[in-house]
Amino acid sequence: MAIRCPRCAREYDVTLFQFGRTVDCACGERVGLTLEVRLPDDADEPRFLCDAMLGRLGRWLRALGYDAEDAGADRDGALVRRAVRERRLLLTRDRKLARAWRVDVVVLVAGQTPAQQLRDAVERFGLDCRARLFTRCMLCNVALEPTRAQEVADRIPPGVPDTQPALARCPSCDRVYWEGRHTARMRRWLARHLGGGDVSGPEGY
Ligand SMILES: [Zn+2]
Ligand SMILES: [Zn+2]
Repeated sequence: MAIRCPRCAREYDVTLFQFGRTVDCACGERVGLTLEVRLPDDADEPRFLCDAMLGRLGRWLRALGYDAEDAGADRDGALVRRAVRERRLLLTRDRKLARAWRVDVVVLVAGQTPAQQLRDAVERFGLDCRARLFTRCMLCNVALEPTRAQEVADRIPPGVPDTQPALARCPSCDRVYWEGRHTARMRRWLARHLGGGDVSGPEGY
């Protein structure tokens, strides 16, 4: 099967357009097909893949409890293929990539700062900023498991209540998370930048 350039009618083999890749035709036109990826039905829980320029956005998405993988040093084609394969939204700052690949999972992020980027993502994808807050490891992107203060006593400051709901550990890296000054600072940052947000923690934090 061949695809015709809409301007000069030159023909290209369809295999050139896999994963939404486009071709620069000699006439100057960009030729391509738009690839539609069926995202998981659970649309209120989008999954993300953040390009290397969006590392901080990825951390904040994980803080909100969303599944957000860091793409690391993967090249454009590998990034797009991974997003399609894992049915993730590929968040990128790279205009060239967004132009060269016509795939509906590629999302060009316009915001300059992590705060703008997170605000845009929250609005665009209707993210819930409270329901899953601090339920995922910021480093591993793995769902945290509840733990008890006595089990992790050597790794938390004295006085962290045994019953606090946020006390959890990462099953992958064993890092322990609890409500404290650090989460209070993050809650303030979220309230300031996302606005309208009562993201305050339990009494005293
Ligand atoms: Zn052409
Ligand atoms: Zn971890």
